[in-house]
Amino acid sequence: MIIDPLSFEKDFHHISRPCRIFCGHFIDGLGGPAAAGITLTIAGSRIISIEPDISPPSDIDLSSFTILPGLIDAHLHLSISGLPDPELRSHQLHAAYSALEKMMAGHVKDLLKHGIVAVRDGGDHYGHGLRFKAEYGPSIPLKIRASGKGWYSKARYGRLIGKHPEAGESLAGAIARDREPVDQVKIVNSGLNSLSIFGKETPPQFDLAEMKAAVNAATEKGLKVMVHANGRGPVQISVEAGCASIEHGFFMGRENLERMADRGTVWVPTAGTMKAYADSLEPGCPEAVIARQNLDHQLEQMALARELGVKTALGTDAGSLGALHGSGLIEEWRLFAAAGYSTEAIVRAATAIPAALLGLEDMGGLYPGSSATFIAVPGGPDSLPDSLSRIGCLFIDGRAILPPYRPARG
Ligand SMILES: [Zn+2]
Repeated sequence: MIIDPLSFEKDFHHISRPCRIFCGHFIDGLGGPAAAGITLTIAGSRIISIEPDISPPSDIDLSSFTILPGLIDAHLHLSISGLPDPELRSHQLHAAYSALEKMMAGHVKDLLKHGIVAVRDGGDHYGHGLRFKAEYGPSIPLKIRASGKGWYSKARYGRLIGKHPEAGESLAGAIARDREPVDQVKIVNSGLNSLSIFGKETPPQFDLAEMKAAVNAATEKGLKVMVHANGRGPVQISVEAGCASIEHGFFMGRENLERMADRGTVWVPTAGTMKAYADSLEPGCPEAVIARQNLDHQLEQMALARELGVKTALGTDAGSLGALHGSGLIEEWRLFAAAGYSTEAIVRAATAIPAALLGLEDMGGLYPGSSATFIAVPGGPDSLPDSLSRIGCLFIDGRAILPPYRPARG
């Protein structure tokens, strides 16, 4: 039987026997070359085989689609909208959870609509993202890795996304004492990227000894550490302390990239934030000009990271001005392409690399035994990433989620 990929959810939902899916094009997410004419067989929540098309007909015909693993946004803020409306931007920073709940559910819907199956939330001042995960996580198909409230040094940048250790308390002591059920520890170890002075570096918020102790305290709890860091010094300290990932990493320099390649530290460049600033601000104003220069410099660093073999992941920082949930990943994808990444390498940076970072290994690629978590987008691989705005279907753990998706609540 041939099923219209836009209407098979009800039929497919309860099929337990092996189901053969014909894929016009196929990208495995592990960096392998795109292939044409593949038959994917799934049973229950797993992929059981991937073969060249040998004996049609299949159960589901996706011959005019490209199939790739479900995507991961390695850095966003669920409780903050990226819309440029000034009233919303100031309201959401101080709003109660109940006032933002519906908006967060809307973000989940926008993410799923763009084929995003897992996200890492970079934290917020009140821990709304973590609470949303606790309340909605079990009933929505999106996997959320929440940071709760990130850590910053009192009197430095970071209040927007977290809290600081108490007076007289070390960062490591604060992490050890904290009882929030977070999925990773977020630490802010530099200032924001300057939009008034190109390339201006800020001093680290924590020194190497403090950062090492903090990473140890997190490791004791079985948690990885993600560090907001821009500039040479802050990035160097964070990488040497053993963090799992550097967030942003503007102006970190070649030596830090080499260090990260050696240690396997993941880089989430969030280049789209600077493009969004450049596009959202008054054209030609000094901040817009600097944002564009920051973007160009970041693209050069990304090209170098690619040459050096740094593990790099797509993260949108959705919630930042102009960085939107879901569609922001298309923007970030384009910037990876502008930095010279091939389509296969970008898919890997949006699947296998962040999946390992988030502890979702079996969702990060399509291979026999992996989770049957994938999307189908219209056209061939060269229609990516634009085709992500009109995905044909989304499977998570063998269940057809889209279309249609209805949130359980909200
Ligand atoms: Zn962020």
